[in-house]
Amino acid sequence: MRGLMQHGALTVDKILDHAARWHGGREVVTRSIEGPIVRTTYGQVHDRAKRLSNALLGLGVAPGDRVATLAWNSGRHMEAWYGIMGLGAVCHTLNPRLFPEQIAWIAADAGDRVLFVDLTFLPIVAAILPRVPSLEYVVVMTDPDHMPAFAPAGDAPHFKGLLCFETLVEEHSADASWGGFDEETACGLCYTSGTTGDPKGVLYSHRSNFLHTLITLQPDVMGLSQRDVILPVVPMFHANAWGVAFSAPATGAKMVMPGAKMDGASIHELLETEGVTFSAAVPTVWQMLLQHLQATNGQLTTLKKVVIGGAACPEMIIRAFHDDYGVEVVHAWGMTETSPVGTLSTMTEELAQLPYDQQMPYRLKQGRPPLGVELKLTDDEGARLPSDGTSFGHLKIRGSIIARAYFKGAGGEILDDEGFFDTGDVATIDARGFMQITDRAKDVIKSGGEWISTIEIETIAVCHPKAAMTAVIGVAHPKWDERPLLLVKLKPGETASPAEFLDFLAGKIAKWWTPDDVVFVDDIPLGATGKIDKKLIRQRMKDYVLPAVAATAS
Ligand code: AMP
Repeated sequence: MRGLMQHGALTVDKILDHAARWHGGREVVTRSIEGPIVRTTYGQVHDRAKRLSNALLGLGVAPGDRVATLAWNSGRHMEAWYGIMGLGAVCHTLNPRLFPEQIAWIAADAGDRVLFVDLTFLPIVAAILPRVPSLEYVVVMTDPDHMPAFAPAGDAPHFKGLLCFETLVEEHSADASWGGFDEETACGLCYTSGTTGDPKGVLYSHRSNFLHTLITLQPDVMGLSQRDVILPVVPMFHANAWGVAFSAPATGAKMVMPGAKMDGASIHELLETEGVTFSAAVPTVWQMLLQHLQATNGQLTTLKKVVIGGAACPEMIIRAFHDDYGVEVVHAWGMTETSPVGTLSTMTEELAQLPYDQQMPYRLKQGRPPLGVELKLTDDEGARLPSDGTSFGHLKIRGSIIARAYFKGAGGEILDDEGFFDTGDVATIDARGFMQITDRAKDVIKSGGEWISTIEIETIAVCHPKAAMTAVIGVAHPKWDERPLLLVKLKPGETASPAEFLDFLAGKIAKWWTPDDVVFVDDIPLGATGKIDKKLIRQRMKDYVLPAVAATAS
């Protein structure tokens, strides 16, 4: 027997409809690419997004077509998102931090027909346009006064024109009908950085984004409310800004968009002038903010909570926010394929009773899954491993906000017999259910048959007062197969000896995890999503031989 409740397709246009109807005056504030702070409201964002839908229909965009964005976090970017998704087209967020060749490959693979672009990224467009045969129109996200002169390099016969965002908004009516399609309709497309092989597209549905929104709103997840003022530093082009461009309007929270300026001083200024209560970003952004605050004796007078994820969060960041500024850090894990929120290290009732220091080991872990997300650990053969906090295994995940295949079937079958997706991460899960990422599977060090977590060593070593950044890789060893090597980029003006770092690690990690050597480097390279690029580091260190190994060989 079927239930007799209304169906109400879970489509994301309803989120902005709701925001406009019930929180229409709540502000969306942007540090614009042109310079000034621009203030708008959910009511205006809704109206302008509908006008964009009509503009897109006028350009011949049909439901299912891919429309790309190459843009910073801004009110206009939100308008483009909802304008695209509302009519049933697919919003494809391109990552401007990739090389132009990669962006061109991805846009061509997606078959993008229209591209919304910020002024900052026009040089990229000029470079990619001839290589994306599907691309007909480029909409510059600016007003007529700032429209550039533009000539695409090379041959681009498919290109029909450069359009002005504000002119399109001005010229079209807000009378557009949204939704009315199945909730499984594709809604967003985001390619993963593709550490092996070509990048692969994750194709979100309206339903998965809507469910992800409901999941992230829960108090033990992001815990957002209408009273919040939310600044997403995490870009909309990286895993949907962790869903904030949906969850903020879903609650009616005020939004503050940082545009192109993500340095410590610019973020601090927005946090204070706009009264931000909640923010989300990767650890390196918070490191920059904390350095700025320490250098300027700055304060955080309104910020209450930050979600930190995308890479492991070092203890010093959690402590600095808590001890010096009274801000709660929630450490989170997720990936493009998981919409992206997968787990959060929210304290349970039992842990919340403990003194802060005793909570720290749990706060450093990536945490527990919300309702609707299931996790398991398996060995190399796929057999389940116990949740004992020490068994390392492949982290697998299942749920309605998790990818079941990549765009156009890239990579083939990606689920196991039980429908779980292999995250490519190696993790432990403890008896309280707290998951801890120890590595990407391809980065884990296998020493004498046992696994060493590079992430754990890195996040401890980076807390050394002289360290700016640290990375650990495995290097060949005749007896143990592989041993850890610690690379350290020092803070400007600092000098240090390897022993200082090895002493610092002593007692904080198992003795046999101690790196066999410490090498000081000028640069630790980051990939396009802000993660340490270990592939490049391994390439750079390919001729390196451990001192002990070199000694026995000579
Ligand atoms: P992406 O799809 O680019 O967001 O990358 C997802 C990957 O980032 C995950 O599979 C993890 O390897 C890594 N990651 C995300 N959050 C964390 C975290 N809190 N700690 C450690 N690694 C993380």
